[in-house]
Order: sequence, then C-alpha cells, then structure tokens
Amino acid sequence: MPVVVYPGSFNPFTHGHANLVERALNLFDKVIVGIGTSVDKDPDVYLSERIALCRTALEDFGDRVVVKGFNGLLVEFVRANNTRFILRGLRTLTDYDYEFQMLEMNRHLDPEIEYVLLPTASQWSFLSATRVREIASLGGDVSAFVHPAVAAHLAINNQPKSE
Ligand code: ADP
Repeated sequence: MPVVVYPGSFNPFTHGHANLVERALNLFDKVIVGIGTSVDKDPDVYLSERIALCRTALEDFGDRVVVKGFNGLLVEFVRANNTRFILRGLRTLTDYDYEFQMLEMNRHLDPEIEYVLLPTASQWSFLSATRVREIASLGGDVSAFVHPAVAAHLAINNQPKSE
C-alpha cells in the first residue's frame, strides 16, 4: 500500500487531525504529516515548535507516521516523498469549497496528484484549530481537544495580547 501526505498548518494539531491520521493508516502504509507555513494562518508560530508538538501528539502510532515541515509548493513536497497521494479532511460545506479549489490548483500543477478526502469523525466535526487557539488565548480549557503537551504549550504561549 502506498504512502500519503497529510498537509496542513496544524496550528495547533488537534484530536480531529489525529483521528484523520488514524483512519488513513487503514488505507495507507505510511502517513507523512507535512506541516507547512501559511501566510494566512499565523506564520509567526515557529514551524519547529509545531513539528515537535505534532510528533509528540502522534508518537503512539509509531514509525508508520512521520512528521516533516515544508516551505515550498505542496506538489513538490509530495513528489519529494515519492508519492502522489494527498490526504485532507472534510468537515463542512465550507471545507468542501476550499478543498476543491486547492485540489484543482494542485491538479493543474501536477496532473498525477490524487486527493483522498476523508469526512471528519462526527465527534470532531465542530473542532477547528482556530477555535482552539481562540479559547486558549482567553484562558479556556482546551484539554478535550488536543494532546496534553499541546494544551500545556498553548497555556504558556497563547496568552491574550495586551493592547
Ligand atoms: P490548513 O491550514 O491547510 O487548512 P489545517 O491545519 O487547518 O490546514 O487542517 C489540515 C487538514 O485537516 C484540513 O484538510 C482540514 O480540513 C482537516 N481538519 C481540520 N480539523 C479537522 C477535524 N476536526 N476533523 C477532521 N479533519 C480536520
């Protein structure tokens, strides 16, 4: 069975993301979580921190899951990992619109690319990294949504900004 790349900003990595990785392991031999830098979504959160936290959150899956950072084009990252499969999650119709736009652009860049779109597990369909960051920045408890190491990191580093 082939390898799949699961790209995202994972800022932070949530239980919804972990659920997608777990289910992808039923379809693929190996999942490469590719953490990109996003201009829209808080590029100021260091990539190395996100990689380290993501590795901790996924350590129970062993060596079938690998976490890497990347800066350039997703299609190039996918090719560099000797695969042509990209995994993304779908929660809502808004996700669907966004994913299809990205999918068509990436297909244009590399027609060999195949997308695997997995619907979210119902229990995490409401969960978004942006909301988790927002709750944490207001001092709320996010331990139900993320790995304890991620929750601890957010508690220290995601304080509300003073005016
Ligand atoms: P990006 O910044 O590239 O949109 P995210 O880090 O927000 O990426 O999410 C990465 C992928 O995980 C996306 O395909 C997104 O739809 C999916 N995802 C996000 N939250 C969940 C969730 N709760 N359940 C399943 N998939 C999710």
